[in-house]
Amino acid sequence: MKPDTTTPTTASANRLKAQGLIDALAPGYLPHIIDGQPCASVDGQTTTNYSPIDGSVLNQTALGSQADVEAASLSSSRAFEAWRQWPANKRRDVLHAIADRLEANAESIALMETADTGQPLHFTGKTAARGAENFRYFADLCSRAADGHSYPTPTHLNYTMREPIGPVGAITPWNMPFMLATWKIAPALAAGCTVVHKPAEWSPLTAAFLSKLALEAGLPAGVLNTVQGLGGGAGSALTQDPRIKAIAFVGGTKTGSRIMAQGAPSLKRVHFELGGKSPVVVFEDADLDRAVDAVAFMIFSLNGQRCNAGSRLLVQRSIHNEFVKRLVQRAQSIRMGDPFDKATEVGPLIHGVQLAKVKAYCDKAQQEGATIECGGSSHGNPALHPQGHWMAPTIVSGVSASMDIVQDEVFGPVLAVLPFDDEAHALALANDSRYGLSTYLWTGNVGRAHRLARSFQSGMVWVNTEIARNLSTPFGGMKESGIGRDGGDWSFDFYMETRNVCIALDEHAIPKIGKK
Ligand code: NAD
Repeated sequence: MKPDTTTPTTASANRLKAQGLIDALAPGYLPHIIDGQPCASVDGQTTTNYSPIDGSVLNQTALGSQADVEAASLSSSRAFEAWRQWPANKRRDVLHAIADRLEANAESIALMETADTGQPLHFTGKTAARGAENFRYFADLCSRAADGHSYPTPTHLNYTMREPIGPVGAITPWNMPFMLATWKIAPALAAGCTVVHKPAEWSPLTAAFLSKLALEAGLPAGVLNTVQGLGGGAGSALTQDPRIKAIAFVGGTKTGSRIMAQGAPSLKRVHFELGGKSPVVVFEDADLDRAVDAVAFMIFSLNGQRCNAGSRLLVQRSIHNEFVKRLVQRAQSIRMGDPFDKATEVGPLIHGVQLAKVKAYCDKAQQEGATIECGGSSHGNPALHPQGHWMAPTIVSGVSASMDIVQDEVFGPVLAVLPFDDEAHALALANDSRYGLSTYLWTGNVGRAHRLARSFQSGMVWVNTEIARNLSTPFGGMKESGIGRDGGDWSFDFYMETRNVCIALDEHAIPKIGKK
């Protein structure tokens, strides 16, 4: 199929066009970037990329298939031998140069991300800085990536060393596409791996821009290849490609399980950052002003489309009604609207399919007897574009622990609230989930904080704080929320092989057989 060059018709698309961003990135259509070159799909297929803000056509995107993934993985294999030999300080310098480019292009990255995902500029305005921070953090670790440990005994010395595992695949979702791409790609490059990146089909723009900026910064051709396409097409092919040694995946739990099965014949190493249904546990002895701020932020920021959303509020019965009342007031004063307006705090959801799913959870909960305290649908503001996927900040009370809205990841601005009586009850409710990503705890009792932190079934526990990332700490989930940890040395453990060398001091007795 010939690339379609349909002219974007409405506001979001025109916004990018006016800045020259679409023409710079997608002259006619958005290409893959393979072996340092923008290229069309081998079979010429493209797909249309719409803005969730107003349904305008942003661009046509190359639609990758197995042949494109093969070209990219071949390129990554060829580039690997040279890239892994680069001195660590040279690798460090090019990763810092990429960070420089991201910072210099922060405004363009923000505009593209907003048009592509509907996330307000309020948040996307910070995404380039955060992406640059990911590159700088891992750039500075390049010289230590291969370091190991030593384990001396009286008779032997064991020591370990690490080496990059090889070309790896990174598959990322649409909710924070730019930041998450950098979060996977930066440590892999720092470790000495080459990368084939398959971004989400609903948000292709900033991944292509990242690849372009990385090349301009001096990253050699083939070290980062970007193949656009669908999960079941390019994504699936990437997970099955024998040249690709590991898959770093961020996305839904069901997809993770599919990727594991697809990668099994070629024994792929996998790292999964999956879904969540993180509880926020608020005790009556907490600083409730700070708790209200954090609860609202962790469910309504990024349109609620965040893996770490605190989407189950467990609040002590004695303060339940007052706390919910304060949250409802807060939710109702959140500014939903044009994400290009810097004052906007909540934009549209990514897609009509996502909006329908989120609404269906609210409708079902209501039918089952829950109370929609606020939101539940778009609030009908005539200023909102009719083609946008609007969902007002929603709070649902009167739910029971077994309802879908409490058990499933809704992935929208929807908070389900349950009361608890005491610590044991709070713990039981918090752990009553198939997910285990984060738990947020609000209490003024230090002993209780430590006691509960040991007992929550989640990879991360945040006490009296919203999510506050320190890139050296392990990030990841238990249960159906993931496999593996990212951050600091944990990232290198995934992208590298560890070798142990055992050397005798030539004095120990070797067992003898067959000797007279
Ligand atoms: P998704 O699983 O539908 O898609 C994620 C990526 O996987 C996309 O690039 C998609 O094309 C690809 N994909 C889909 N099927 C595939 C297959 N069979 N083989 C290979 N690749 C395939 O997820 P989504 O809807 O894009 O993102 C939302 C999900 O991501 C939520 O569940 C959210 O919690 C999760 N997420 C998790 C984290 C975390 O750190 N734990 C962070 C962000 C998002």
